[in-house]
Amino acid sequence: MAKPLTTYRSCNLCEAHCGITVTSDPEEGIIETIRGDIKDPMSKGYICPKAYGLKGIYEDLDRLRTPLIRRGNSFEEASYEDALDLAASGLMEVKRNFGANAISTYLGNPNIHDFGSMIYHPPLQRALGTKWRFSATSIDNLPKSLSTSLMFGTSTPAVPDIDRTDFFLIIGANPIVSNGSLVTAPDFKRRIESLQKRGGKLIVIDPRRTETADIADMHFHIRPGGDAFLLLAILNTLFAEDRINLGRLKNHVCGLETIENLSREFPPDKVASAIGLSEFEIKDLARRFSKARSAVCYGRMGTTAQRFGTITSWLIDVLNLVTANFDEFGGSMFAKTAHENTERQRPPAFGRWRSRVSQLPEFAGELPLATLAEEIDTPGEGRVRALLTIAGNPLLSAPNSARLQEAIKSLDFMVSVDLYLNETTQHANVILPTTTSLERSNYGFVAHGQSTRNFAKLCMESIPAQDNLLHPWQVALELGARLRGQTPEEIDEEMFTQLCRSRNIKPDPDKTNLIGPERHLDIFLRSGFYSSAEPFTLETLKANPHGVDLGALMRRLPEMIATSSAKIELAPDILLKDCDQLRERLKSSSDRFVLIGRRHLRSNNSWFHNIRSLAKGPQRCTLQVHPEDARALKLTNGDLAIIESRVGKVKAPVELTEKLMRGVVSLPHGYGHGETSTKLSGAKVFQSGTNVNVISDDKWRDLTSGNAAFNGIFVSISAQ
Ligand code: SF4
Repeated sequence: MAKPLTTYRSCNLCEAHCGITVTSDPEEGIIETIRGDIKDPMSKGYICPKAYGLKGIYEDLDRLRTPLIRRGNSFEEASYEDALDLAASGLMEVKRNFGANAISTYLGNPNIHDFGSMIYHPPLQRALGTKWRFSATSIDNLPKSLSTSLMFGTSTPAVPDIDRTDFFLIIGANPIVSNGSLVTAPDFKRRIESLQKRGGKLIVIDPRRTETADIADMHFHIRPGGDAFLLLAILNTLFAEDRINLGRLKNHVCGLETIENLSREFPPDKVASAIGLSEFEIKDLARRFSKARSAVCYGRMGTTAQRFGTITSWLIDVLNLVTANFDEFGGSMFAKTAHENTERQRPPAFGRWRSRVSQLPEFAGELPLATLAEEIDTPGEGRVRALLTIAGNPLLSAPNSARLQEAIKSLDFMVSVDLYLNETTQHANVILPTTTSLERSNYGFVAHGQSTRNFAKLCMESIPAQDNLLHPWQVALELGARLRGQTPEEIDEEMFTQLCRSRNIKPDPDKTNLIGPERHLDIFLRSGFYSSAEPFTLETLKANPHGVDLGALMRRLPEMIATSSAKIELAPDILLKDCDQLRERLKSSSDRFVLIGRRHLRSNNSWFHNIRSLAKGPQRCTLQVHPEDARALKLTNGDLAIIESRVGKVKAPVELTEKLMRGVVSLPHGYGHGETSTKLSGAKVFQSGTNVNVISDDKWRDLTSGNAAFNGIFVSISAQ
């Protein structure tokens, strides 16, 4: 019997990137065990139940192991050669007939957790020649990236220095379930417990008493969409009580007076009833935050995927800045990765061009996903006619999915790179499957950039690629090569030469014949921050399979500031302009129910619902309703409720809970697996559920960025 192979890697299913130990039998193609890696310096053995899902995905009989080509209403298995040729020729035909911008791409969330995809997608986009690109960013964190970019000139947000803070204010985030997002901090619960043991406090603001709120020192319900008012009222108190302190950064900040004037319009007594916190509670929060030895405010989906997402994200950083808690230990700090090599990044572009129909601005070359359907179904010059989706299921994750479904059906041509025949890929002409993450190496390109401790880790493959499947980066390279009439090796060499030139480094002669992401990573590391005293290379990471701890977060300001004024912009004009709508909102009122999302520990967007070990158990796709509201609606536990918005209507079983504030209902996302032509047998049986995005409104967007506003949608509820 062959000796099992043991590898140490990071689970890349979410941003926590927990260290795992994987044992496998490479000859038999079997993953034997997945356990937490106690030697991983970041996670110290912690994993959540989803880590086993990596094995579940690898073994899933529904997973595609051969490319598929559409023939009429069904699919036929094909070789990669034929499928890639057809994919390239179909896309080229659309380009020839209607121009390159008739093609659009959509990149799903798994791409940012896969180093190879991060490296090889940009050249594929260039090979297509189109500027139309969408991704999961604009149904998630775009507002935070944009506000950070407007304030600091960099799109990578600062992270809460959880392990050193004394006062942790969480708004609209549930890290006990999500394990942190826009921050890589595995085992969030342990970190919170340590905070409390050292006398620190956790305060949670959320319309639902979440799992995180359950362990908090204080929790306050807030009306969805009220976060910006709360933050402005806190700022108002800080100014009124002379509690402003810019600390070390006082000479590097501009716009403080503008913030003071703005906050004057939102005193606590004026916003209290609209948001659901009392004047006393708001003032008390402001005082506690400013008095703490160190404090940090952190927000996530509840603060970004809402109408005032960019404004709220901005005000969170303003609060941290004006209390001397930005770029300070225990406050909000920037990570320093091993692959970066300069303090000052070029600021990402914003609004250089706009979408055709709704005139939404691009950010870093990407448009908000909420506009994709109308860009396909609105006739006229420049209509999107072909789509390439990569590891994404927008028909379950984009707003107004019924409209998007009809739009996608009308495309001239569609290619999907995906593990599954799912709700979206079922409409493709060609589906190109790939390996699963255990079959390839990885590096946390994004995760390390938002880590709560500086860290670097290379994950080697735990089992060789099975069934001759290509890695996602190989599919991107093969497709790009066909589109450009070159070989994959030629494209890779061009990319590599360009990278070496931009990093001003000579390639290692031993690696000149290699191809693939690791060769590129080696250059990033060799020319990176930690390579100055002695070389920090791919070999360094290989010699440290549990990862390299690069120390606690360090101060990076003012060196990192990359705005055109060379100052931290406390009051960017674009955001001030959008505050007009904030003023209007404060005057308005509605007695309709307000919908918010939620997530479950055993679920990760849409693609884990097919893994039986995770999907088994009670139905999780329920409409949570406060018992008093349910009584008024004549609904009780288990009843089917009809939920209706401007764009659609769905049904879901009712779950009564006092965790929600009155007037708010909650339905999770990623469900709706009832389609007959998909190949997701587990999801259909165990967690079929309701697609909340049938009622998510594609016109209900964050004002500034166009990010989908999944939270705060007005709905009507009735009994079936
Ligand atoms: S929290 Fe769970 S899903 Fe996320 S990286 Fe850790 S083990 Fe994987």
